[in-house]
Amino acid sequence: MFLNAILKPRSLAGRLTLWYTLVSTFLFTVAIGVIYLLIATVLLNQVDSDLVEDIAEFNDIYRERSIVELWRQLQTEAAADGADQILFRLYTEQGDLLRSTDDGTWDDLEPLENFALTLRADNEPLINGIHLQDHEFPARTIYGTLTDTNGSYIIQIAESLEERADILEIFRLAVLICFPFLILLSLMAAWLMAKTSLSGVQKVTDTAIDISNGALGERVSLTDQGLEIDRLAATFNSMLDKIQLLIRGMREMNDNIAHDLKSPLARIRGIAETTLTGSHDESQYQQLAGSTIEECDRLLHLINTMLDLAETEAGLAASMEVVNLTELIDDACELYQALAVQSDIELGSKVDQDLIIDGNKQFLQRLIGNLLDNAIKYTSAGGKVTIDHKVCGKDVLIRIADTGMGIRQEDLANIFERFYRCDLSRSKPGTGLGLSLALAIAKAHWGNISVQSIVAEGTQFTITLPLRA
Ligand code: ATP
Ligand code: MG
Repeated sequence: MFLNAILKPRSLAGRLTLWYTLVSTFLFTVAIGVIYLLIATVLLNQVDSDLVEDIAEFNDIYRERSIVELWRQLQTEAAADGADQILFRLYTEQGDLLRSTDDGTWDDLEPLENFALTLRADNEPLINGIHLQDHEFPARTIYGTLTDTNGSYIIQIAESLEERADILEIFRLAVLICFPFLILLSLMAAWLMAKTSLSGVQKVTDTAIDISNGALGERVSLTDQGLEIDRLAATFNSMLDKIQLLIRGMREMNDNIAHDLKSPLARIRGIAETTLTGSHDESQYQQLAGSTIEECDRLLHLINTMLDLAETEAGLAASMEVVNLTELIDDACELYQALAVQSDIELGSKVDQDLIIDGNKQFLQRLIGNLLDNAIKYTSAGGKVTIDHKVCGKDVLIRIADTGMGIRQEDLANIFERFYRCDLSRSKPGTGLGLSLALAIAKAHWGNISVQSIVAEGTQFTITLPLRA
């Protein structure tokens, strides 16, 4: 359990620290290993080049003095360094042993096979490494030729690598002492770096906690935390702005729904009260019942429109079919003709070309119906409502124009909002939901609605819908 918590920490800072420490430990080990190998190789090369220099030096002594003098000096050197540290052997040119400074510890050092022949052939000193049983440390041995006009000898030098081993031992000891400190330091650095770089995330978390405790106005303060964290904070803040706007919109909508439900309910209650308290004749009762039905219809219209809006916004893709828009517009014109005649308005369609689209027939009827209803409702007697179309590439534009009261410029941006009604049209009945539903339907069909209007001259709504491919 405890080991699991250490090897798989739950916090991101913990995981980053663990990974950073593991990676830096691995890199330290590799770097130290490489340095160790380099030092070992350099030290060995140094021993080899010293041995080669020694051979050259002994050759000079042999030439300038004699082999007896040289041997005397070699004995002195062996005695000074310690006979177990360095060995000198003298051979004849053919490889027969003449003299040795062996103290007994070099006994098992066998001469290289055919070294005399190899030396003669290569004319270069022969070097190789050895590890003798009686020696704690490995050794290096070299064979070289001593030449003079009086004759030639072969000299063998064997040198213990104890000094090199001591230096490497000190290095290993230093590493052993420093390594835990290095790991501890990298652990601390990793923890500090992880904590600093994640402090921005902590700020976002703190703000989220404050918000969940009710402080909806709270925002993450944008400081220079690094591009990624700053972007996270900015996205978080803009998401909060949108949520706050949405909540405000929902609150307003709730108020509007409550208000729109309250008025007809209050009227229905008033009618019921009048029916209960007063004494009326049959025709008066019929009139009161008629008014109740009218108010109930208004309530049902409001509730049905809200439900249709919710259904449209959830998406209509599942209920799409091939729709002939021209037929649909003709049917709608026929349906609204009676209302137009009743209001003394001329209603006509100029859509004569077959327009085929993918859509939900019932909702497309609501879309055209709502715009025709508005055009007739907000146009006074003697006016005109016309529908025409234009094919633009892969889209069709359906234009519904009227010669009615028009919409003021400052209202144009709001008319698609739920429950919005312009002051100019307050005298007409309505809930302010018709255009919201129309726009939602157009959008559910991958289309849109735009509007142009001049007060007292008329309004034109343009529906854009993609034609069937
Ligand atoms: P509902 O359609 O829900 O019965 P409504 O017609 O008032 O009510 P919308 O259809 O959403 O609601 O229209 C919103 C507002 O836009 C209307 O109240 C009206 O002020 C204005 N409007 C819409 N169409 C026209 C138009 N053709 N001419 C003038 N004003 C319009
Ligand atoms: Mg309307």
